[in-house]
Amino acid sequence: MKTMKILLALFLGASWVGGICAQDKPSAKPVKAVRFGKLWDAKGKLWTNAIVIVEADRIRAVTTDAAAIPAGAETIDLSKFTGLPGLIDVHTHMTIYTDETPGEPMLKQLTNNPPAVEVFLARKGALRTLEAGVTTVRDLGADQYMDIAMRDLINRGEMIGPRMFVCGYGLYITNTPYKPGINPPSGGIADGVPEVLRVVRQQIAAGADLIKLYASTGTDDDVTGFQTYNYEEIKAAVDTAHKFSKKIAIHSYGPDGARDAVRAGTDSLEHATDMDDATIQEMAKRGTFYVPTIDHNRYYLDNWQKIGYANGFQEKTKAFIERNLETARKAHKAGVKFAMGSDAIYAMFGQNTRELGWFVRAGMTPEQALRTATTNAAELLGKEKELGAVAPGYFGDLVAVEGDPLADIDVAIYKMKWVMKGGTVVADKTKVQLH
Ligand SMILES: [Zn+2]
Repeated sequence: MKTMKILLALFLGASWVGGICAQDKPSAKPVKAVRFGKLWDAKGKLWTNAIVIVEADRIRAVTTDAAAIPAGAETIDLSKFTGLPGLIDVHTHMTIYTDETPGEPMLKQLTNNPPAVEVFLARKGALRTLEAGVTTVRDLGADQYMDIAMRDLINRGEMIGPRMFVCGYGLYITNTPYKPGINPPSGGIADGVPEVLRVVRQQIAAGADLIKLYASTGTDDDVTGFQTYNYEEIKAAVDTAHKFSKKIAIHSYGPDGARDAVRAGTDSLEHATDMDDATIQEMAKRGTFYVPTIDHNRYYLDNWQKIGYANGFQEKTKAFIERNLETARKAHKAGVKFAMGSDAIYAMFGQNTRELGWFVRAGMTPEQALRTATTNAAELLGKEKELGAVAPGYFGDLVAVEGDPLADIDVAIYKMKWVMKGGTVVADKTKVQLH
């Protein structure tokens, strides 16, 4: 009887909501016309006085003809600014967000927070990431499938954040002491080919968009790069991911894991320093993406006390950054494809695009640097027909910057004024006067 009443209430509730909807005007898709003084479309054209027409979440047209604006369209005038496609960060850890609570080390917060709290807090990092002009991220490693939860909440409109492509647990070798009677958490731990196959399949079954594998040591204030997985294990992970039409990202701080990851056919190589020339040549030949993540160590150096690292790692980390930059320089010169990854973690969100500054220091033009966060990143995601450019059929992901990012990459990093994701304006600083 009680159940009946609840069902009836639900039914009435639903029909009441339905009634309201029915009275609204027919569901015409909202159309927006966005005017830019200049527009770099990432398709090879720099437009003057461009108008981008966005219908619902997609771009319908790019034009200079005001007569092409459909009647009733909302016009957004950004003619003082330069338009770019929404940017893509291919290496984040969105769920490893922490606040900078004074006196409380961020490392400690992470281990204290239950997953539900972490996901809820992570909305702040997601917003800061959007405000930096990043409308899409590839998230490379989370616990408890918090990344899948966050991706789905964002896609449902329950959380505001960049579009996420996620990997679940990254695969890593056994690395904790054995304790009798205590089962280690299953997560991403996999040793030997059969376990690698199981854990890759487990991530895909859980709903991961791609696979991540840690092929070397090195994380946080540890900048060692000793190879962990052997070639056969890496190859098994790559082949299994590809069998399921998933891409794989492989972490290696040092050259040995990098060499085997590239030879095994990884889609992207994260971090790697000191790569030998043969590996760099092989990457150029195969089209392997290099995601050097140089800037995250800068963030660690700037914030080590807040994070809670022990003193004494600064010298080796500074040296690592120099080697990281030098490897990037060599790889760029050899024609290796790059994608921009920040490795944003803790409270680094919002600084996601600072990596572009390092790319220019490594020898790229600002335009080449912008490609790493647009067309190249989209290709690495396998979404090159929907993301990373301003053209008909692409997602309505647009940003406006103040100045000329093709002359000065800092404009794209520090002068972000307005952000649209999937046809919705998610950040707008155009009205704020900065002094
Ligand atoms: Zn990472």
